[in-house]
Amino acid sequence: MSVDNHRATISEDALVLDAHIEGRTMKKARVIVTLECNRHCGYCCNTPAMLAQATKMQSWDELADDDEIMITGGEPSLLTPREFYKILGQIHRVRKPSARVYLYTALYVPWLPLEALDGIQYTLHTTSSIIDVAAVKDLENRFVGLSKDFSSRLRIVKGLQYQVHITPPLWSSVKLQEWIPDCPLPRDERLLLAPGVEKRTKSEVSGLRTRECRVLIRTKSENRRIC
Ligand code: SF4
Repeated sequence: MSVDNHRATISEDALVLDAHIEGRTMKKARVIVTLECNRHCGYCCNTPAMLAQATKMQSWDELADDDEIMITGGEPSLLTPREFYKILGQIHRVRKPSARVYLYTALYVPWLPLEALDGIQYTLHTTSSIIDVAAVKDLENRFVGLSKDFSSRLRIVKGLQYQVHITPPLWSSVKLQEWIPDCPLPRDERLLLAPGVEKRTKSEVSGLRTRECRVLIRTKSENRRIC
């Protein structure tokens, strides 16, 4: 894999903001909204040890004091649009007006409501397909017209087998990086399981990564699989 360095910009992490606001520590919540995933990354963070650090949310109100809320999984884009919108609605209902809401995903689906988010982190894993790589362009098309404050982060895990072409001005940040072993939680960040998401054993989590890819784009001439 190589990144097209003529066009790529590598910048510092746009979301790693000053950890303090007006003298107080920022509160950040990483919320696992599903443990299901269509991939089998060998380095996946969702191990029993990692999930043991997660706190099960009893209510969405627990996000009311957070400055940043990260929606993550598993793969959040495997939720149905209805499920995703319901979760996003709950977050918007309880969050502070100043709180920012980000989506962490490795699967682009056209219905993602980027306009209702403050940013997205799109990750190309070693297990990502050529369709996932092509989705970079789809995302860039979606970024046009969004607020200039929208945070668009691209993360490429070393080992991806495809070349990635990007349009730098459309991304806040692009990084080619090694996956960090054991997935340490960033400082000031807590890991939460959304209401309805249960902790799983390792084998149960593996079993969840078998959901069939759905055919998401259907035209007269082709059924395009997105994953
Ligand atoms: S994309 Fe890979 S690292 Fe992320 S949840 Fe799925 S299996 Fe784990």
